[in-house]
Amino acid sequence: MHSSLPSNLPRSQDGFHWTPQEGLQPGLPSLGVITPETEIKQARQTHDVIVVGAGYAGLSAARNAAKSGLSVLLLEARDRIGGRTWSSNIEGYPYELGGTWIHWGQPHTFREIYHYGMKPDLEVSQDHSRGVNRFDLITPDGTKSMSHKEEDALLESAVRKFIDVDGVLAREVMPFPHTPNANPDIAKYDKLSMADRIDQIKDDLTPSELAALEGFVLLCSGGKANNTGFYDIVRWWALGFYSYQGILDTCVTYKLRGGQSSFARRFFEEAKATGNLSYAFRSPISRINSRDNGVQVIAANGKQFTASRLICTIPLNVLGTIQFDPPLAPAKQQAISIGQINQCSKVHAEVRNPELRSWSGIAPSNKLVYAFGDGTTPRGNTHIVAFGADVNPLHPEEDVAVTKQSFTDLVPMDIQRVVFHNWSKDPYAQGAWCMFEPGVGTTYLDALRARHGNVLFANSDWATGWRGFIDGAIEEGSRAAVMAQEELGTAKPVSHRL
Ligand SMILES: Cc1cc2nc3c(=O)[nH]c(=O)nc-3n(C[C@H](O)[C@H](O)[C@H](O)COP(=O)(O)OP(=O)(O)OC[C@H]3O[C@@H](n4cnc5c(N)ncnc54)[C@H](O)[C@@H]3O)c2cc1C
Repeated sequence: MHSSLPSNLPRSQDGFHWTPQEGLQPGLPSLGVITPETEIKQARQTHDVIVVGAGYAGLSAARNAAKSGLSVLLLEARDRIGGRTWSSNIEGYPYELGGTWIHWGQPHTFREIYHYGMKPDLEVSQDHSRGVNRFDLITPDGTKSMSHKEEDALLESAVRKFIDVDGVLAREVMPFPHTPNANPDIAKYDKLSMADRIDQIKDDLTPSELAALEGFVLLCSGGKANNTGFYDIVRWWALGFYSYQGILDTCVTYKLRGGQSSFARRFFEEAKATGNLSYAFRSPISRINSRDNGVQVIAANGKQFTASRLICTIPLNVLGTIQFDPPLAPAKQQAISIGQINQCSKVHAEVRNPELRSWSGIAPSNKLVYAFGDGTTPRGNTHIVAFGADVNPLHPEEDVAVTKQSFTDLVPMDIQRVVFHNWSKDPYAQGAWCMFEPGVGTTYLDALRARHGNVLFANSDWATGWRGFIDGAIEEGSRAAVMAQEELGTAKPVSHRL
């Protein structure tokens, strides 16, 4: 079994792998899998802090709290760390199943890259030095091929028209990207969906600009143009230095040679090395009770744990499955019932086409709307990464043939392997990176960030800066750890107030 997955790493139950020889197999090897799955030091099961969730928010919170001297219990539903960010090493090559690209303009992430001495681990996804060196714009009318320089010029022109609501490329409406609601005028634009904004400018777009822009907004949103807030793209733009090149650089260029799980693992090992960390994986929790003197959490298997504070890092789309006592504040409940709209599919293909290493394509009407050469595998094959959106949903495990067809409809390729994680059907994510529908970003952010008695909430889904990114998760976990440290009076606070 699994002979084409040689790896001495433990296997997660998450993710899927397909090859022509073995067909579809569930589960993938990963550095992020933790064995043994439970290590609880204190028999009395009372801790200073319980952290629920071991994504980057939970890992940052647990590590910082443990380093400051607090006793920490980390409870995670899965068999691995990383949450929506994890990699699987297959034949020594890392496939990123979720969060991937990072950048020095993402301050919390880069603080950690420095801390762990990982600057030399950064590499660039794109390689335009060999092969076809071409971009294809694929529409029902046919394929228009061009150079990458022409691709950038086309998208830059279209995206600038899309963004430019104030004549200064959004600098006026969003002057402080890490305080996105600083200018109250932004509320006006938060009423618009991406489709509304395209409608406002469509007469000013060439047919190619319109098609490229439709693909681009679907790539960013992972939802539908008519349910994604224009506001979130303005945020990306402002965070990406108010430029198209900045969005490319910050969002799809620099990744870690060893895969994201090699980064997440450092947080976990550092927390463990303090001697203050207990943990239980494969421990989904179902109920959180906040009491005057602390918190009680009840796992789905009936086990109960208590602590002075609880840091809940459960994603927005999953929070509704947790029972809170007393009930959450009405505004938080409303925000949870609205949720976030990103149901993107991210799929990798290893293809016997070395020439596609320098290829990229946008196809707004395909199930995979955006794809490009992301690496060369140890077999000398090209690794293509592709993204689909909820407007045309793709669930590869339900029909691999449709998935392969979606790849070959982009450009002919000889597919030898498909690797993916279905985030939409994942009970502990129920979606991909956070994208809000119109109105949510300006109405509910404070409610999502608010505490509930002794429960603190931390997740990238309500970060102030790079919300929906790894950076936002680290921002949030660090914020919650500082609150716990201050309230519980530890002698050695570990990070700064955010
Ligand atoms: C396909 C995809 C591509 C992405 N690309 C990028 C990118 O290139 N760059 C980037 O910066 N970001 C990217 N992101 C976003 C990034 O991955 C997330 O924003 C970030 O990882 C979220 O971290 P978090 O800790 O806030 O939440 P999560 O990672 O979701 O962590 C929450 C944890 O809580 C656990 N949990 C849930 N329910 C329970 C329960 N009941 N009991 C116990 N535990 C529970 C989950 O299993 C999970 O481990 C991408 C995301 C996806 C899905």
